[in-house]
Amino acid sequence: MSTSPPPADATLRWHPAGLFFRARLGGRVRKVPLDAGFSCPNRDGTLSRAGCSFCNAEGSGTGLFAQGFGLDGQWAEFSQRVLAKEPKTRLLAYLQAYSNTHAKPERLRAVLGEVASLPGVAGLCLGTRPDCLDVGSGEARLDVLGSFLLHGLPFVQLDLGLQSSDDAVLSRAGRGHDSACFAAATRAAAERGLHVCAHLLHGLPGAGPDDLARSVDFLNTLPVAAVKFHNLLICRDTPLARQWRGGGLAAASREAYIAALIAALERLRPDICVQRVFADPAPGELLAPDWALDKSAALDQLRGAMLRRNTWQGRGLFCPQALPDWNIYYEEGGA
Ligand code: SF4
Repeated sequence: MSTSPPPADATLRWHPAGLFFRARLGGRVRKVPLDAGFSCPNRDGTLSRAGCSFCNAEGSGTGLFAQGFGLDGQWAEFSQRVLAKEPKTRLLAYLQAYSNTHAKPERLRAVLGEVASLPGVAGLCLGTRPDCLDVGSGEARLDVLGSFLLHGLPFVQLDLGLQSSDDAVLSRAGRGHDSACFAAATRAAAERGLHVCAHLLHGLPGAGPDDLARSVDFLNTLPVAAVKFHNLLICRDTPLARQWRGGGLAAASREAYIAALIAALERLRPDICVQRVFADPAPGELLAPDWALDKSAALDQLRGAMLRRNTWQGRGLFCPQALPDWNIYYEEGGA
């Protein structure tokens, strides 16, 4: 571990995604968003038709599958543009919209077979819910994912929504699963060599001021490889939008979110890579807060605040004296 003074470049105040992907895939990585036409149990009536309180159904996906674009067409369109500019970049398929394991194992196998045969695909990131992996009932869908990791896809990351470790907050948000479900899914996925990237959300109704930091404490106990942090967005056509319009909800200021984020980062295990620190609104969906539209200003403010406080990821755990050299976590075997 380095004992040199903190560098002026504050990006290394947290474990960067670029290092995580370079260690596993040997170079710079870009994700190609793909829509395979999956739905979500919280929307199609399996669990509910209401959706999570913060989720805008229109903003969740590209809709390209419904418009008749297959995975190969979506891939060709995006990958050709990227590779024309950055020919050495490795491309990851990203099944992002909705819950991409919400299907029978046979359909999941067929979709992953298509993904594995895309030209030049270096691996897969797949967003889903922890209750869509058959944990506790045969784990058939996890087995399908694990089999592609062994034969066909050299890297698989599961983007698993947790949002909060507080079950009362999850219930109020209408998630339809609890934190124990997330923990069981994470352990079962990691046993198969799948990398789990947890999604956390700051500012849900009923969450206390230290909810994000407490959720990080929970993640620290699990075999999580990565985390994406999000500030709560009030989006059109959501239950939270109605609450916000009625004056019953306010979005966090940029300053308040950054303070909560720094407190959470200081408690995050240094081997867990940080793949996102601010939410990205889809075009036209954002009602509040306005500051969420200027991500680069928010990032500058976060970096400046961490530099001024001379703090970094994991500082509150066991590295209070020295800024970590994140490479050490790969030299020692990785996350
Ligand atoms: S946030 Fe995810 S799980 Fe919740 S309704 Fe939206 S797509 Fe479904």
